[in-house]
Amino acid sequence: MRLVLLGAPGAGKGTQAVFLKERHNLAHISTGDIFRQNLKDNTPLGLEAKKFMDAGQLVPDEIVMKMVGGKLAEFKPGEGFMLDGFPRTVAQAEFLETQTKLDGVIMFKVSDEAIVKRLTSRAVCKECGNVTNIHEHDRCQACGGELYRRDDDNEATIRERLRVYHEQTEALVEFYRARGLLIEIDATGMPEEVFARVVETLEHD
Ligand code: AMP
Repeated sequence: MRLVLLGAPGAGKGTQAVFLKERHNLAHISTGDIFRQNLKDNTPLGLEAKKFMDAGQLVPDEIVMKMVGGKLAEFKPGEGFMLDGFPRTVAQAEFLETQTKLDGVIMFKVSDEAIVKRLTSRAVCKECGNVTNIHEHDRCQACGGELYRRDDDNEATIRERLRVYHEQTEALVEFYRARGLLIEIDATGMPEEVFARVVETLEHD
C-alpha cells in the first residue's frame, strides 16, 4: 500500500504514521524528519533547508522533489510506504504522479486553533521521535528518553506554517478528491481514537 498523509502541521500525521507503520508494515517517509536529520548532520541540504524551516516557509520545490525522488527510487515495486509532509504543493503532487501510483491520500482534519494549542505544547523524544505534551510529562512516555521542543514550534512560526498550509497545501485536497483518492478523517481527540477512525475507513470501506 502506498499512501500520502495530508493535513496541516500538527494534525497528527507523524503520530498516525507510527501506528500505521506497525499495523501495515509500511515505510515512513517524512520530509521534515529528513531535513532535520540533515541539519543534525550539518549537510549542505540541511543548512539550506534550515533557512526556510525556521521562517515557517516551504523549502523550494526543486530541492524537495530531488530528495524525495531519490528516496522513492530505493523502493521496489510492491513495497509499501507512507509519505508524511509530502507533497505540500500542486507542483510536488504532479511530480509524485510521475514517480509512483498511490492507493490513497488520508486527510487529517483539525481546526487551526486546536493545532496552535497542540503545537505550543508539543515535545518530541530525542531517542524515538514519539510526541508528548510538555505540560503533562517531562520524559518520553514510550521509552523514557529526553524530550526537546522543535525550533519551529513557537506561536509566531506555527501561525506562519498554518498560513502557508492554507495558501499552498490545502489545494491538494481538491487535487486528490478529483482523482478519487481522498480519505477524510476527523483528527480531533486522542491519537488512539483518530487511529480507530483510520482503521475503520481504510479496512472496511
Ligand atoms: P514537518 O516536520 O512536516 O512539519 O516539516 C517541517 C518543515 O520542513 C516545514 O515547515 C518546511 O519548512 C519543511 N518541509 C517539509 N516537507 C516539505 C515539503 N514537502 N515541501 C517544502 N518544505 C517542506
